[in-house]
Amino acid sequence: MCVCGFAGRIPGAPEDILSHSSDASPQGKVMRAHLLSLLVVSVSTATYAVDVKVEPGAVNQVLVTDGDHHLAVYGWNGPQAVDRVLLTHGRRDVVWRAESLISREVPASAPEAERSSLATPQDFWSGFSKSRYHDYGQQSTRLRNSPLPVDQWVTDGDSVHWRGHELKVISTPGFTRGSVSYLLEDSGRRVVFTGDLIYGDGQLFDLYSFQDAIPEAQVRGYHGYGGRLAALVDSLKKVAALKPDLLIPARGPVIRTPAVSLDRLKTRVQKLYQNYLSTNALHWYFKKERMTKCGERVLGAGAEIELMPYSQYEKTPSWVFEKGTSRLLISDTGRGFLLDCGSQAVINAIEDLQNQGAIEGVDGIFVTHYHDDHTDYVQAAAEKFKCPVYATKEYSDVLENPEGYHLPAMTSNAIANVRVVADGHQMKWHEYQLTFRFFPGQTWYHGALFVRRGTERPIFFVGDAFAPSGIDDYCVLNRNLLHDDSGYLNCIQQLRAVREPFWLVNEHIPYVFSFSKKELDYIETRYRQRIAVLSELSPWNDPNYMVDEQWAVMYPRGTRADTGQSVPIQVRLINHSGKAQRLTVKLNLPTGAKCPQLQKSIQLGPRESGRLSFDVTPTESGRHLVTADIAGAAIDVREWTDVLIETP
Ligand SMILES: [Zn+2]
Repeated sequence: MCVCGFAGRIPGAPEDILSHSSDASPQGKVMRAHLLSLLVVSVSTATYAVDVKVEPGAVNQVLVTDGDHHLAVYGWNGPQAVDRVLLTHGRRDVVWRAESLISREVPASAPEAERSSLATPQDFWSGFSKSRYHDYGQQSTRLRNSPLPVDQWVTDGDSVHWRGHELKVISTPGFTRGSVSYLLEDSGRRVVFTGDLIYGDGQLFDLYSFQDAIPEAQVRGYHGYGGRLAALVDSLKKVAALKPDLLIPARGPVIRTPAVSLDRLKTRVQKLYQNYLSTNALHWYFKKERMTKCGERVLGAGAEIELMPYSQYEKTPSWVFEKGTSRLLISDTGRGFLLDCGSQAVINAIEDLQNQGAIEGVDGIFVTHYHDDHTDYVQAAAEKFKCPVYATKEYSDVLENPEGYHLPAMTSNAIANVRVVADGHQMKWHEYQLTFRFFPGQTWYHGALFVRRGTERPIFFVGDAFAPSGIDDYCVLNRNLLHDDSGYLNCIQQLRAVREPFWLVNEHIPYVFSFSKKELDYIETRYRQRIAVLSELSPWNDPNYMVDEQWAVMYPRGTRADTGQSVPIQVRLINHSGKAQRLTVKLNLPTGAKCPQLQKSIQLGPRESGRLSFDVTPTESGRHLVTADIAGAAIDVREWTDVLIETP
């Protein structure tokens, strides 16, 4: 067996978008280096029965050759006649690579456990206009909109037989629930095609894809940070036990030191999870026993699990009325100011206060963040009490236009006419002084209210951002960015900037609590260590790409339009890196939709955001899924983000 790659443009690829991407992506750079070493260190074909060629790209293509017969893994766009193509999972950002073969009726093998994403993906999209709201599952939406024909569904222990060779199927869940790898043994050499199990020397393609439920600890997908890291660790061990000589992944360079690289990834993932547990809000909500269960899955039975001891907490002062996940400030003059409204029960409780004469009315509502348990009844409350709703500009749009987004636990109840205040805006309200803050903890779309009442100890209402056991970052899809001026580091700075004793309120917790300087130092130190581990795990040029699925996202994510009606679509991009980069976006249009210009580019400075606008027009009725490829000097991803246009 010889393993070699060949340089040059990937055949059959669209123009531009590939030429810069396949050259210069970090993946590409690593792969070019790898390619050179391959060309230099060529292995004699005489020793082995088959040839293995790897052509690097946004998704690698692999051609296994025996005489004049060929087998493809992931895909192959060369002129050779291919007998079969092997797929390791069902995500569209990888299986697009096999489409040209499958459209020529080359039979495909794919994991049985991924059948729904390949055989019936349209079921997901037919329900998307509803399922995008109140989503607590947090599974990838990188699904095709049409079935991809597969003729052989494989499970662990099966074999794919080809030309007298046997490719053994090994179940290797992690990146997706049902991923498999294929082991090819040839004259004593063992090659494993690992899909997205591992990227290069001990890295992962991203972290957010691992969000999932942990049933044995009664943790649902929303709370399941790295929920499939335990499965990943098991899969890494399983592949290591095969003692492979070579790993050929779907993305990233060929791995020539499997034992070292698999072990390195396992160690990093365990370090990451240990760090995550050490400052976790769920320790308050779920208690030690359940957190230990979560930890032992990834770290091993009996592993030492560090949990931050609870901070100081005590009874909430009487001027703050508690109801559900809302708080009502009550003034001496008998007026109320509401924070969040997630249920009718809150409205009812305020009406009871009015009926008892405890308050006369409500003057305003502040929304801490977009989650449904804080927003479902905000509009109803605003109408009932005839008062304005306040938020800072960073997240006012998701409150007014939730249909533009797909985010965890999003309400479907839009809030009309949000009164947008700037970060730091102050408002005097009766004997209170209110300071509105953008506060990107728990989710980026988050604010906080610093409340001072006379000489009393002030209260910082920080939504769900903190708990007495640490930070609320269990849902990676919520977007907790890692820069110093975004996400938790920003929030920690805001707490440190308060130069007097104050209380924190998280509306899920029926107490006020506070962190000592030592506790804040501990949280920040642990968080910075987390960023360091994520940087080691990251093949991207900035670790934020590991945790921010929406660095590139279409706006809106779903909409309705009549035939012939043009739909303005934005592709919103964030350059998380410290280097300027030019990004090119190319839309993939389904039949039944048109767009005058499919490809556009934008130059983004370090840490800069930008938008590219397209007009898409459905030309027939149906459910049209438009996806986008994104490429730049350091990025090359296909069928990455999408908008669903439903045309009656
Ligand atoms: Zn909440």
